[in-house]
This record gives sequence, structure tokens and C-alpha cells, in this order.
Amino acid sequence: MIVKQIWTANSYRNFNYLIACAETGEALAVDPLDHEKCLRAAKDEGWRITQILNTHEHRDHTGGNETMVRHTGAVILAHKNARDTIPGMTRGLGAGDVVKVGKTVELEVLDTPGHTMCHVCLRSHTDQPALFCGDTLFNAGAGNCHNGGHPAELYKTFAEQLSRLPASTLIYPGHDYIENNLRFTLDREPDNRSARDMLDRLAGHDPDNAVVTTLDVERGINTFFRLTSPTVIARLREAFPDLPEKPDARTVFLKLRELRNSW
Ligand SMILES: [Zn+2]
Repeated sequence: MIVKQIWTANSYRNFNYLIACAETGEALAVDPLDHEKCLRAAKDEGWRITQILNTHEHRDHTGGNETMVRHTGAVILAHKNARDTIPGMTRGLGAGDVVKVGKTVELEVLDTPGHTMCHVCLRSHTDQPALFCGDTLFNAGAGNCHNGGHPAELYKTFAEQLSRLPASTLIYPGHDYIENNLRFTLDREPDNRSARDMLDRLAGHDPDNAVVTTLDVERGINTFFRLTSPTVIARLREAFPDLPEKPDARTVFLKLRELRNSW
């Protein structure tokens, strides 16, 4: 499996991806908003884009579909309940479905509601596993829920699916938000050395050469995986004095999500 991360350099800070089979050169384009960059990248590599995967229905993820289809004839895959919101969708996906790319690439579909209720992530079972997580999980952050999402569902997705993936899983999110997210982590947990070190290293980074984290790294720097940290809880209590003595992880997650909205 070959992964090419494509930085769109647009104001939404989208990342697009090409996932290719090394043997056949067939490629899957994930959320190819910047169709020009995606088409050029495929051409440079000698790949043929045969499938488009939309992680969810938002325009900054689906807006490149039409042009991509016109140029490549690719089929469009997305969550099975997104048929009404994603024009031209060819294949509806559900949890456990397999997306094949060429002869060598197999990706498992995860049904991951929260950012929207029609959101899928793709997971590879390669030696070095990888997760294409759209707007569910970001580097050092989590997706928002204010355009058709539900914070409680997002928590469930984190707790029951994402946090159970192998620690070495590479994280490929839909946007470059890492610097801002690390600042939020440090606002919530000023004594987080890993987040501090990473922010020092990354400040003013070039998303064309973005850092790719692993789930293990995220557990250290992502507030939404640090729900039992005493500092996180103590700081949260400053904002929410009614927080119970020993708040459960769900409560902490939901309060963090709420704070992040106004931060
Ligand atoms: Zn979105």
C-alpha cells in the first residue's frame, strides 16, 4: 500500500489522499477536493484513480467528486446513509465492509458517527497499520459536531473504536489542525511535555511535509484521549465547577468538546 498525502493549501486546511496498489498502479482518492493536485499527483506516479472515497458528506470533502469522475470515470464510495447528500454515489459502505484497491490493498470500513452521522474511516491491516479518519480524529484533536453531528456519538466512536486500534496505527486526518490543537491541549494540560515539545518542533511547519503521528503518539498529545489525566480534570473543574469528584470519561470528553467550540 502506498499512501500519498496531498496538502491542498486552501483556507480549510484540507488534506487529500491517494492510496495506491504498488502492483497494478490503481489508486483510491480520499476526499479529493483539490482535484487538480490529486490528478497531477496520480499522473506523476503513473497511477490510475479508479475509486473515490468520501469520509463524509461535507462539501470540503466531496466538492472535487464531479471533476474527478469526469477525468477518471472513478466510482464514488461513501457511508450507505449518505446517498441523499452525496450526488453520484456508487457504493454505500457499512461497518466491516472491505474496500479493495488493485490487487494488494484491502481497507476495512469503520462506521464512525459523531462529526456527522454518515462518517466512515478506513483502516488498513498492513504491517504498519493506518487509519484514514476524515474529520473524526485530528492530530491532537477531535472533529466538531455542529454540522450534523452528535458529541455523544463522537465519544462512543473514540471509546469503542479508535482507542482500540493498534498503538502503531498511522493517523491520516482530513485537515491540518495540529498546531492549533496542540495549543488547546496545552491550555487544558499545561504540564504536557510531549505536546509542548511537539509544538516547539512544529511551530510554523510546512503541511506539505506534515508530521504523521501514530495512535500511540495521539494518546500522549490529544486531549480527547487524555480523559483521566488529573490535570485535564482539575482544569476542567475550573470551567465547570459542578464537575463530579471523579467524572467518567464520557463526561470529560463532552465537556472538552464543549470548551473546544468556544476556544
Ligand atoms: Zn467535515
